[in-house]
Amino acid sequence: MATPILDGPSACVTLSNGVRMPWLGLGTWRSADGDEVEAAVRVALEAGYRHVDTAAVYRNETGVGRAIRESGVAREDVFVTTKLWNDAQREGPDAVRRAFDESLARLGLDELDLYLVHWPVEGCWRDAWRVLEDLYEEGRCRAIGVSNFLVHHLEALLEDCRIVPMVNQVEFHPWLVQPELLATCRARGIQHEAWSPLMQGRFLELPELAEIGRAHGRTPAQVLLRWNLQKGSVTIPKSVRPERIRENMGIFDFALAHEEVARIDALDRGERIGPHPDEIEF
Ligand code: NDP
Repeated sequence: MATPILDGPSACVTLSNGVRMPWLGLGTWRSADGDEVEAAVRVALEAGYRHVDTAAVYRNETGVGRAIRESGVAREDVFVTTKLWNDAQREGPDAVRRAFDESLARLGLDELDLYLVHWPVEGCWRDAWRVLEDLYEEGRCRAIGVSNFLVHHLEALLEDCRIVPMVNQVEFHPWLVQPELLATCRARGIQHEAWSPLMQGRFLELPELAEIGRAHGRTPAQVLLRWNLQKGSVTIPKSVRPERIRENMGIFDFALAHEEVARIDALDRGERIGPHPDEIEF
C-alpha cells in the first residue's frame, strides 16, 4: 500500500512520463459556470490547491479557466484536467481533435496538463485514444489518460496502444473499492484517481469515519480523503463552499493507522453511485 509522504496540498505524484500531478485537486462537476465555479477555484487556489478537474460536459471550462488566469498563480504551478465528451468520440477522430481545441479555447490555455477520455464508449474509444496519443506527441497536453476504464478496457487498450495512459480516473470510495482495478493500475504504472471521493455527500452515512476521525481530531470528510491518499489515489473532492474547500485540504498532516485503512476497506460492497462503465447510455 502506498503511503505517500506529503508536505501539503501542492504535494505531487510523479506520473509515468515524469509529469508531476498534485494528489489533491478541486472537483467541479455541478459547479455552475460563472460566479459559482470562479469563486470556488479562486478560494481553492488561495488556500493552496494546485489542481482543478473539469470536463467539456460540465460546461464550466470558461469559468475554470478565467479563475485560474486571474488568480495570480503561475500557469505552470496549476495542474488542469479536462475530458473528452462521448458525443465527440461517437463522431470520430476529427471531432475528437476539434473537441480538444474547443476545450483549450474555453479554458483560455495554450496547453493542457491532462486530457482524459471521459467514458469508454464501446466501438469508439480506441480511435479516440489514437487522437489523444497524437495530441500528446504534438506537445498539446503534458499527459493523457482515461476515465471510467475497467480492467477489461485497460487490458484491451494496453494490447495495441502506442502510449500507456498516465491516469485512470474512476469512481472510488468505501462502497466501491475495486481492488483489482487499483492493482492493475499500479502494476501498469497508471495513476489511479478517485472521482466522487466523498460519495457525493453520502459519506455521512458511514459512522465509522466519524469514529476514526475522533481519534485524530479530524472530520469524516478528512478521514475519507486521507484514505484516498493512503490507497495511492489522487483525489478531487468537489465543493463550492469556502469552509469545505479548506476543510478538504486538511489531509496532509496526519496519517491513518493500517487498521483504520483496513476498516474503511472493509466497507466495500461493490456499489456504485454513478453509472456502470459498461452500461452507459449517454
Ligand atoms: P464528491 O464526492 O466530491 O462530493 C461532492 C458533494 O459533497 C457536494 O454535494 C458537496 O457540496 C459535498 N461536500 C464537499 N465537501 C464536503 C464536506 N467537507 N462536508 C460535507 N459535504 C461536502 O462528488 P463529485 O461527484 O462532485 O466528485 C468529485 C469530482 O470528480 C467532480 O466534481 C468531478 O470533477 C469528478 N467526477 C468525474 C467523473 C468522471 O466520470 N470522470 C464523474 C463524477 C465526478 P457543496 O459543493 O455544497 O459543498
